[in-house]
Amino acid sequence: MYTNEFEYLAPTTPAEAFELVGRLGSKARILAGGTDLVVLMKDKLTSPEYVIDIKNIKEFKGIKYELGKGMTIGATTKISEVQYSEIVQEKYPALAYAASQLGGTQVRHMGTIGGNTCNASPSGETPTPLVALGAKVVLSSAAGERELPLEDFITGVRRLDLKEGEILTRFILPEPSPKSVSRYTYAGARDAMEIDCVNMAVNFELEDDKETIKYVKFVLGSVFIKPLVSKEVPALLIGQKFSDALVEKAVAAAQGEAKPISDVRASEWYRNEMVGNLTRRLLKEAFAAAREV
Ligand SMILES: Cc1cc2nc3c(=O)[nH]c(=O)nc-3n(C[C@H](O)[C@H](O)[C@H](O)COP(=O)(O)OP(=O)(O)OC[C@H]3O[C@@H](n4cnc5c(N)ncnc54)[C@H](O)[C@@H]3O)c2cc1C
Repeated sequence: MYTNEFEYLAPTTPAEAFELVGRLGSKARILAGGTDLVVLMKDKLTSPEYVIDIKNIKEFKGIKYELGKGMTIGATTKISEVQYSEIVQEKYPALAYAASQLGGTQVRHMGTIGGNTCNASPSGETPTPLVALGAKVVLSSAAGERELPLEDFITGVRRLDLKEGEILTRFILPEPSPKSVSRYTYAGARDAMEIDCVNMAVNFELEDDKETIKYVKFVLGSVFIKPLVSKEVPALLIGQKFSDALVEKAVAAAQGEAKPISDVRASEWYRNEMVGNLTRRLLKEAFAAAREV
C-alpha cells in the first residue's frame, strides 16, 4: 500500500508554518506524528498534494505548568510525554492515565496530543479527559489566535471548527480545584491495541463533609459523534450525598444520554451495557479518591 505522491514540507518556525498552511489551504494536510494521517493516505482516504510536517517547530511542543494558573500542553507534545509527565500525573491524573492506554509504545512515542484531537475520532483516548478537565484549544494562524473550549472545537466525526490557515498550537488546562479528583476508564481489548468501544472521564469534588457532591463534570467517549458532556449526571449528583442508590440513578441517566452505534468494534447493546458498568465503576472510584484528598 503506497500513498499518492506529495511534496513534503517541514517548516521550523511558527511563521513559516502559518504561511504554508494559509497559502496551500485544502491542497495540504498537516502532519504531526503521522500515526493517523499516514494510515488514511495509504488507504487513499486522503491524497494531499502537500504534507506540512509541524513536529520540528519547538514553540508547538512541551508541557508548562504554573501553580494557580494551570497548564499548557503544546499540540505536538508526544502522547508518551503526557503519559510520563510527573506534573500531569499529579494534577491531571485522568489525562495521564488515558495517554498511557493509547495504542502501544511505538504509537505513543510517535503520536501527539494535538493529532489525537484533530483526528476527531469519537473513540479518541485523550479528548474525553481533556474535556472533563475543562481544556481549551488555541487555534493559531498568520492572522492571530483564538481560543475555544475543546468540546466546541470537535464538532463531529472527523469534523473540527478549524478555519483555513489555522493550526491547533496548544491546549490550556485550568488549575484543578485543590479538593477535586479526575479519573478515566475505558472498555476495549487494550492488549491487542484495540480502539476503545466506550471511554469516559470524570472531574469530581466533594464538600468538606466528604459525603455531599460539590462538583461533577462527566464526559463519555465513543458513544456519540464527539465527546458527550453529560448534563443529567451532574444535575442528579450535585448537592446530594453519595450512595449506591444515587449511583444507580446516574447509571440510568448516562445510559439514557449515550447514543452508541453498532460497528465492527461493538454492538449498540454492548456499548450501552458498558456505559452502565463503567459509569458505576468510575463514580465509585472518584468518590473513594475524593474522600482521601
Ligand atoms: C496501531 C495504532 C493504534 C492506535 N491506538 C489508538 C488508541 O488506542 N486510542 C486513540 O485515541 N488513538 C489510537 N491511534 C490513533 C493515533 O495514534 C492517535 O490519534 C494519535 O494521537 C494521532 O496523533 P498524530 O500526531 O500521529 O496525528 P497525525 O496522524 O499526524 O494527524 C492526525 C490528523 O490531525 C491533523 N493534525 C495533526 N496535528 C494537527 C494540528 N496541530 N493542527 C491541526 N491539525 C492537525 C492531521 O492533518 C490529521 O488529519 C492508534 C493508531 C495506530 C496506528
